[in-house]
Parts: sequence; structure tokens; C-alpha cells
Amino acid sequence: MSRFIVLLGPPGAGKGTQAKLVSGKLNMPHISSGDIFRENQKNKTELGNLAEGYISRGELVPDDVTIAMIKERLSRPDCVQGALLDGFPRTDAQAEALDEMLNDLDGQVIAVPYIKVAEEILIERLTGRWTCPTCSRVYHEKFNPPQNAGICDYDTTELYQRNDDKAETVTRRIRVYLEQTQPLIDYYQNKGILLEIDGAQGIDMVSADLMSALPQE
Ligand code: AMP
Repeated sequence: MSRFIVLLGPPGAGKGTQAKLVSGKLNMPHISSGDIFRENQKNKTELGNLAEGYISRGELVPDDVTIAMIKERLSRPDCVQGALLDGFPRTDAQAEALDEMLNDLDGQVIAVPYIKVAEEILIERLTGRWTCPTCSRVYHEKFNPPQNAGICDYDTTELYQRNDDKAETVTRRIRVYLEQTQPLIDYYQNKGILLEIDGAQGIDMVSADLMSALPQE
């Protein structure tokens, strides 16, 4: 049976940062729906063009499109043992679709770390965030700056600010999260696999809490 971990939390909770750290430690592929969309936007694919309007408005891309994209990604050979999902599922319909997909793949969601952060902190985190277009690592100008301003520590690419990290879109993304994604907390709580993590701490502390909360082999 393959084992999947779903990271839940509002935009700005640090899901992407933690997913990179934890997937490296557990040697699991990191699958970020947002990164796949951004990659498609960069390459101007049909999927990228379709997603663009939703993303720039801070809305969710429709379920059927997102579900098909993730289904294709999970069917690739690197996921046979499982994967760490970051940003998917984000709606009830996506969570149900994931269960069906995993049924077919003989897989299971074994844990759902929920990185909890108070709303007022999120806006400050998101609007100060800078992203590497090459490796998608994220930095924060105040809380997690790169060694050289504006440059990625890992591949020296120039960092950029995501369009949807600009102040006017951030508020919408948080509202969409509260309406559409927050209900998934109950969904996974009812299954007994939700792990609440305090995301207001520093990156290393969150990561340590996450690693110790995850079920051991
Ligand atoms: P993220 O990088 O996870 O913050 O995602 C950036 C944007 O991509 C979101 O604001 C949505 O517009 C879109 N997106 C990412 N994941 C999903 C998803 N699971 N369902 C629908 N839209 C998504």
C-alpha cells in the first residue's frame, strides 16, 4: 500500500516551505498543485492559460480541471510508494476524488498535518514573500530572507513576487480558503488522521513538530 500525506493550512501558513523540508527528509515526492499550475502558466500550456484568470483573481481553479491534473500526476512512477500533497485537496469534491484515486492506486492518506496560523499573521507573511521561479523555494523579506537580497540561495536565480501575493489578492485567497478549504479540517478530523501543528513558530520548530507528529513506519 502506498502512503500519502496531505498538508493543510491557509495560504501563508508555510505549507510549501514545510513540504520541501519534509519531503526531503522522508524521501517522498512533493506534489504542489500551485507549482504545477505556475509551471503550466510559465510554459503557456492550455492548462496554464485556463488557470491563469482564476489564480490572478485569488479564486480556485475549477475542481474538474484540478482533479484531472492531480490524477495524471499521481499516476506517474515516482508516486508508487506515495507522495506529499501540498495545496490539494482544497474542496470537499477534491477530497472525495482523492480518496477514489487512491482506492484505485492501492494508496491511503495516512496523515493530514494542519498547519494552523492566525489570520492576522497570514497577510504580513504573504505580502512579504518572494519566490524562486526555478526551484519554487519561498523566502520572506523579513522572516526568512535569502543570503543575498533578491537572489535564491540554492540556484542564484532572481526572486520574484507572485502576482497573487500582492495585497489586493491575498485577502480574497484567505476568504476562499475559509469558505472552501477549512471544511476539510472536519473531514480529516472525522477520519482520525488530522494532526494540528502550531504554524506561528519559526520554520525549524514547525518542521520538528511536524516530523515528530507524523506516524512512524
Ligand atoms: P498555492 O501555491 O497553493 O497558494 O496556489 C496558488 C493558486 O493556484 C491558488 O490560489 C488557486 O488559484 C490555484 N490552486 C492551487 N491548488 C488548487 C486546488 N487544489 N484547487 C483549485 N485551485 C488551486
